[in-house]
Amino acid sequence: MRSLFLLITLLGGILTAGRASAQSSSQDTVVFDNDSSFDVDYVKLDLWVTPDTQYVAGSVELRSHANVLRPDSTIQLSLWPQLSVDSLFCDGVPAYFRHIGDKLYVTLLHNYAPNAVFDLLIYYHGYPTDWGGLVHYWQGRKPGGIPIVYSTSEPFGTKYWWPCKDNNADKLNSADLYFTCPKADMVGSEGTLVSITENDTSHTFHWHESYPIDHYLIAFVCTEFDTLTHWHYWADGDSTKIMDFVFPSSADTMGNALIQVDSILNQYEQWFGPYPFRNEKYGIAQFYGGGMENETLSFCNDADSGTVAHETAHQWFGDAVTCKTWNDCWLNEGFATYITGLWARVHDGEAYFDTLMKEQEQFITSKPGGTVHTPDSLLITDVLDPRLVYSKGCFLLHMLRFVLGSDTAFFRCLREYVTGPLRYGVASSEDFEHSVEKSSGRNLKWFFDEWVYGDGYPIYSLAWDYHDSYHPALAISETGSTSASPFFEMPIQLEFIGPSIDTIAEVLDDAPLKAFDFSFPKPVTKVIFDPHNWLLDGSLPRTLAVHSEQPAPESALDITQDLNAFTIAFSIPQTGEVTVKIYDLLGRQVCTLPLGVQQNGSHSIPWRPNIGFSPGCYFCRLDAPGSEQVAHFIISN
Ligand SMILES: [Zn+2]
Repeated sequence: MRSLFLLITLLGGILTAGRASAQSSSQDTVVFDNDSSFDVDYVKLDLWVTPDTQYVAGSVELRSHANVLRPDSTIQLSLWPQLSVDSLFCDGVPAYFRHIGDKLYVTLLHNYAPNAVFDLLIYYHGYPTDWGGLVHYWQGRKPGGIPIVYSTSEPFGTKYWWPCKDNNADKLNSADLYFTCPKADMVGSEGTLVSITENDTSHTFHWHESYPIDHYLIAFVCTEFDTLTHWHYWADGDSTKIMDFVFPSSADTMGNALIQVDSILNQYEQWFGPYPFRNEKYGIAQFYGGGMENETLSFCNDADSGTVAHETAHQWFGDAVTCKTWNDCWLNEGFATYITGLWARVHDGEAYFDTLMKEQEQFITSKPGGTVHTPDSLLITDVLDPRLVYSKGCFLLHMLRFVLGSDTAFFRCLREYVTGPLRYGVASSEDFEHSVEKSSGRNLKWFFDEWVYGDGYPIYSLAWDYHDSYHPALAISETGSTSASPFFEMPIQLEFIGPSIDTIAEVLDDAPLKAFDFSFPKPVTKVIFDPHNWLLDGSLPRTLAVHSEQPAPESALDITQDLNAFTIAFSIPQTGEVTVKIYDLLGRQVCTLPLGVQQNGSHSIPWRPNIGFSPGCYFCRLDAPGSEQVAHFIISN
């Protein structure tokens, strides 16, 4: 899903009301339908819809199987209270039900044995006057113009228009979707268009989804449409029907722009394996909700390449493999956001991609805290948080690509995740982690613990010994962006540049304070921290300059600590006045040690600081006649 701000505003009141309603019932102890006593396997929707209202009427058949039913054989479904149940049948016999708040409790005909199949047929109607679930609008955004009605179910909207088991983990195996509408209109929906049956003043569209599908990915859009159809041929010679539904007024422009879908599909197949719904179709249908990745038919405002690339990525990540709970929604949205960036990298170049990632980083770090994994929440603004679920989830994948070491390894991990045992099922963050670990052969628990569940991001401070251009030293100090932030262990790239050298070194930053020594055959004049912006750290690549390009002699200066006492060891070529100055990581001078006149040669002088030093990395500089020496040292507790 993309661009939800309008919907967020509109749904805010509904969600609050829904929660209050849920709390009002003593039986209603779960927010979602975590009713494990049964699983829904198949749904048949047979609904009357008309684009000039949000009115809906008809029946929903839920074919399920029992696990272990409760002693009273009652199961829980969800249905918005503004929709009225007219009658309800269990295996053809009227069944007892109670519709309390947004929950529908049904007492089954029998206490079915485990794996026994039962059918529920629910006739209902209603006019959900609050927005959400079904949205009525007008083409061209002109009130009174050509009307349109469409569903918006992600994340909590399914129950606003049909009785469902509101739980992502219970994926349906297949669905038949019948929509009857006025003859002037068409209905776009999931899977294959089986038939259009003409009635007296209406016609009925029968769509069949033969692949597994989650409840919130069942959708329809109904208005006056032009359809644009062609066959997409895959690299292996197979083909899939492309069927777009566009407003007649924008058919030409949409048709030209949607040609890009063929290139996007080819690229995604190359990266992530076969399009998951090859035997059915793919298409774009116009609506007014930003973008929504309904299975085999993405809804998009227009043919904006970012929106189309995003929703098409969801066909693999979101639809073929669906987040198991809304806490893991980054598995949908973080993926679609990053893949949209990767598509832009192919299409528009590396520089544009870099700009996109910098914008993502600036957005994420505009606030200090938050996790990719969403805490339990009924707020759509949390589940679909643009900064954390979309952008931080996107940057998590960017860093995973870096940690895995190559695009080959990265795409293999994603391909095996979406084509392996989880395909057509649901996944948690742990499932994705385990899949990547299996594909890469690496233990990446540290990475996922930090970045899926860790609050905020690291903030780095750097200190750079810039006096010896052949043997530079760099100290990296890391603090979290919030007091709840973990320590983020990460590999870090450093680019060293000089008149005749340009090389990248990679170090592992595995402690809050770490110092690194380097040695180069040629002088370096500057170092760039994280030159390719792989790290989410709130800073763009930083350049530290060397002040002197002259090679300095090997420094004999050394400071060692023994409890609260230190020894300063050095060697000087001439007799004369010696001074040592101590600097902190930010380059601030914190103390000066006049050592008086010293003879040429080696010395070892005890030093007991008379000021308190906090633990950390420091630099010291020794000035003596004919000698200037620099060293770094660490003061521990
Ligand atoms: Zn999305």
